[in-house]
Amino acid sequence: MVIVLFGAPGVGKGTIGNLLSKDLKIPLVSTGDILRRNVKEATELGSEAKSFMEKGALVPDEIIIKMMQEEIFRLKGGFILDGFPRTFNQVKELENAMGNNSYDVINLKTEDDLLIKRLSNRRICRNCGAIYHLINIPPERKGICDKCGGSLYQREDDREDVIKERLALFHTKAQPIIDYYQEKGILRNVDASLPLQKIIDLIKDDSYQE
Ligand SMILES: [Zn+2]
Repeated sequence: MVIVLFGAPGVGKGTIGNLLSKDLKIPLVSTGDILRRNVKEATELGSEAKSFMEKGALVPDEIIIKMMQEEIFRLKGGFILDGFPRTFNQVKELENAMGNNSYDVINLKTEDDLLIKRLSNRRICRNCGAIYHLINIPPERKGICDKCGGSLYQREDDREDVIKERLALFHTKAQPIIDYYQEKGILRNVDASLPLQKIIDLIKDDSYQE
């Protein structure tokens, strides 16, 4: 089974991808992880990518595509893609790599308001990196980490105005690709505000369509 996961920041894509990977016993292939691994192992592509990252530039599409192609060919049996495809070039390359093999594109959908509420309440320990949520996982003492007593802070990325910008950017970039898959008839919408296990079950049920 090959699954492509789509979802806005804060939708829980990483968590869902990991659970799904364990459940279906197929690897989760995240563009971010593949990129970091290539850089760490100083592969040819990794070294190329690094030269862009050091300048603070985006890693070009061709490099991302080559890295993902290597990975996709290596994992013929089945996998879950997270963070790929993000551009129409990547969409085309995925189609080439998959040939006649079918795959499901899952769109994890939820209201932006819910994502804003989730992300803007996130707090992180400066000392140990533990993650809290002021509503769902509040610390026992305000502003203090339960585990190590370190102080909690809010990431710049998690400020409400920044989240709104991130979401707007996501919608602008992802929507045309989601629409494309919708027209192709391989997109399945799954409500990301449901309980985790329910989300996993719906993704696994390939006849499910919202
Ligand atoms: Zn801590």
